[in-house]
Amino acid sequence: MSDYTKYRSWRLVGIQWGVTKPMAYRIAVNGYEPKDITIRNIFGLPIAATVISIDGLIQPGAQCPGTKQCACAQWFVPNTPRRKRCYTCSPRRMKPNGQEKIS
Ligand SMILES: [Zn+2]
Repeated sequence: MSDYTKYRSWRLVGIQWGVTKPMAYRIAVNGYEPKDITIRNIFGLPIAATVISIDGLIQPGAQCPGTKQCACAQWFVPNTPRRKRCYTCSPRRMKPNGQEKIS
């Protein structure tokens, strides 16, 4: 923000840092973290990705949150809220129109 108070122009701030006007604005005002490695180098940001923790427990055997547990104790990702059993206990059955049939 101090560069903007100096130049009074996001275009000039962008030229100063070697980035576009919208990129200068996004970084300064919105706290945007650029993904491009060359831009990250300009601002001295680390090259490695930042790991962000997510809210939600990942169950054993599952790879994402939002899983349900089947009666057989297996965790699974339901592809529809109606699915109550895992894909082993209740394999996918397709209707002739290509949609999944759930019993
Ligand atoms: Zn099951």
